[in-house]
Amino acid sequence: MNVLVINCGSSSLKYQLIDSASEKVLAKGLCERIGIDGSCITHSPEGGEKTTTESPMPTHTEAVKLVIEKLTDPDVGVISSLSEIGAVGHRVVHGGEKFAEAVVINDDVIKAIEECNDLAPLHNPANLIGIHSCQELMPGVPMVAVFDTAFHQTMPKKAYLYGLPYEYYEKYKVRRYGFHGTSHDYVSKRAAEILGRNRDDLKIIVCHLGNGASISAVDHGKCVDTSMGLTPLEGLIMGTRSGDLDPAIVSFIAEKEGLDAAGVVNVLNKKSGVLGLSGGISSDFRDVGAAADSGNEVAATALEAYAYRVAKYIGSYTAGMNGVDVIAFTAGVGENDKAMRAKIASYLGYLGTEIDDAKNDVRGEETVISKDGSKVTLMLVPTNEELAIARETVRLA
Ligand code: AMP
Repeated sequence: MNVLVINCGSSSLKYQLIDSASEKVLAKGLCERIGIDGSCITHSPEGGEKTTTESPMPTHTEAVKLVIEKLTDPDVGVISSLSEIGAVGHRVVHGGEKFAEAVVINDDVIKAIEECNDLAPLHNPANLIGIHSCQELMPGVPMVAVFDTAFHQTMPKKAYLYGLPYEYYEKYKVRRYGFHGTSHDYVSKRAAEILGRNRDDLKIIVCHLGNGASISAVDHGKCVDTSMGLTPLEGLIMGTRSGDLDPAIVSFIAEKEGLDAAGVVNVLNKKSGVLGLSGGISSDFRDVGAAADSGNEVAATALEAYAYRVAKYIGSYTAGMNGVDVIAFTAGVGENDKAMRAKIASYLGYLGTEIDDAKNDVRGEETVISKDGSKVTLMLVPTNEELAIARETVRLA
């Protein structure tokens, strides 16, 4: 069965068409600037050339229409008609406490996703628009929602409650939800498979280090803690997000800078993290790394602070699980930045593990990167959220 995986943002739509039998990506692409001038679609068929076409996309429905046109196009397409799409898998960011796993989309599910809009006001409405557009253009095709939060729903109360008045949890559902769940689930499962072990027998820490970054503790197959919270702002220092800080900083900076709380939170989301800490060099680790290599101390400190935060989380999750067997690195930085992996690993000697510089000299490969005989196995496991969504979609559809 061919599965169309859709990931809708407020002005973008990413897609992949995956053949579920071979798990091959037949085509993938991106619609950008939906609802604004200069909308375009970039489409890459397997083994073919990437093309970018400008085309008006006032709404996501036109974007989905264009995706279908590209997929069925006689020149750049990979299928001959819409009937070759057996199911659609939608990435949905927030499932609140309602969804602990993926579900087949029906009217009740749509209503329940709408009820989570409050918790992810930028993401969930966009995900819903994508679902409605696909339903309109592909009537009768089963659709599945795969939630970023679902894998983390196994966290115990002691891990997901904040030290706040309990009534805020009861009234507003203020609690830790966590994100990147599809990736944490996929990578922890894959890490165990690569080692020829059962995930249910292992304590695994997954470090998803991309532009957004989060870390999770997976104890015998279940997520027991994760670093992102009510929103993706908490936890690690990220590309542009601050991660953890003293909450009193919000009112302090608001007063100093003449901002309101939402204005400060915007700074914490978009102008902080490695971008902010490096004095505005970049949110991209390649640029910050290059600046550090050429002697820029502010850039070097930003990277040190990033690594130190990851190492502290590894320490706390090791304590929380009373041990760890495997630490897996994934996503843009985790998969590509050997210097950052080595910097993080330099804090982990107390666990009886040491990174192997030769084995760590890789990018984007499934591999062990710790020295033979290490008590804790360090690994690189490339994530594949689209494949995970496609698998869930096939399982349910
Ligand atoms: P992601 O959000 O998983 O796509 O990760 C994107 C981020 O990965 C970029 O912003 C970069 O900071 C980082 N990245 C990608 N390639 C490299 C690389 N070769 N070296 C260091 N960082 C990289």
